[in-house]
Amino acid sequence: MTQSSREKNNGPLPRQGIGAIAPYIPGRTKAEPGIKIIKLSSNEAALGPSPKAIAAYHAMGDQLYRYPDGDAGSLRHAIGKRFGLNPERIICGAGSDELLTLLTQCYVNPGDDVVMSRHGFLVYEIATQAAGGQIIKVPESDLRADVDAILAHITPKTRIVFIANPNNPTGTYLTQAEMRRLHAGIPSHVLLVVDAAYAEFVRRNDYDAGIELVSGADNVVMTRTFSKVFGLAGLRIGWAFGPESVISTLHRVRGPFNASIPAQAAAIAALDDREFLERGIAHNLHWLDWVSAQVSALGLKVVPSVGNFILVEFPDRAGHRAGEVEAALAARGILVRAVKAYGLDSYLRFTIGLEDENHALVTALRLILEKDHV
Ligand SMILES: *Cc1c(COP(=O)(O)O)cnc(C)c1O
Repeated sequence: MTQSSREKNNGPLPRQGIGAIAPYIPGRTKAEPGIKIIKLSSNEAALGPSPKAIAAYHAMGDQLYRYPDGDAGSLRHAIGKRFGLNPERIICGAGSDELLTLLTQCYVNPGDDVVMSRHGFLVYEIATQAAGGQIIKVPESDLRADVDAILAHITPKTRIVFIANPNNPTGTYLTQAEMRRLHAGIPSHVLLVVDAAYAEFVRRNDYDAGIELVSGADNVVMTRTFSKVFGLAGLRIGWAFGPESVISTLHRVRGPFNASIPAQAAAIAALDDREFLERGIAHNLHWLDWVSAQVSALGLKVVPSVGNFILVEFPDRAGHRAGEVEAALAARGILVRAVKAYGLDSYLRFTIGLEDENHALVTALRLILEKDHV
């Protein structure tokens, strides 16, 4: 809302602070008419969803007049079985975004602090402001969350510490030992939320998605999603695993039917298709390496990533700046993510795509960077 339209508004006003929220701007979805789009702007799955998930979705067509199972019992049991977790300590939601928002709604009073790292996921900031809280952004070192700096920013006003592991948009991660140290330094009344949206992509021995941390503590919640490696972003389905007290709190405030029938069915089928999941992970490992190496070879700085995307720094040179390259790629139908809203003005984020998409991205980048702009 602009200042002038606000002044003219004599109608109801939202709660204090909501007018100050900068709305989340998703990755680009459109190019000029007639241009074929290669969408590498939202970290969606390169391979799309499992055919079995699509079939499960279609099979629910004649059930659409029914309300869904309100607490997603079958899906919670499927998740529990798959990961060895107690289903009573799992809650499902309309994407993990909903669960992140519910967490702030339930645990942040107006005036409380919520801590995140400087280039962490923007949903934490929006959810905190919506709850009337204040977001504290902690400096990072080399675009990695800094455990000691986070701990140094915790005060008696802190209610939640959010950490995406691995983080979006940086692609960096904290090791299991660093996460343990972070948790050990957090007072027991502060909730540690571990957002592991990209966990499946990480193949590092020193990484843990957060299950062990949640299992051994009363103040840790892990969130997961079917939007990324499982390729179901359009259906909106995610889950959280946490202490019974936190999960039962979230159940009280969630919408009574917050996960739709086709979303629950497709998620169960996607979980079951292990072969397809492994294919998606292997595809990403291969092309993450390839795109990172090719982009580095163009003379650009690539932040080492363990997700399905890379963050790339662009030089301060006419025609080669991040914003200019983003526009030049978009003119060729290649949509990537500007990350100015994350305080990363000279960077772009590229999602790993299919083989031909990755080749098209690198070729277009080379052509753009070859041009001299004097
Ligand atoms: C994509 C993403 C999510 C998942 O959002 P959904 O609401 O589940 O689609 C959560 N956290 C991070 C850091 C993400 O990048």
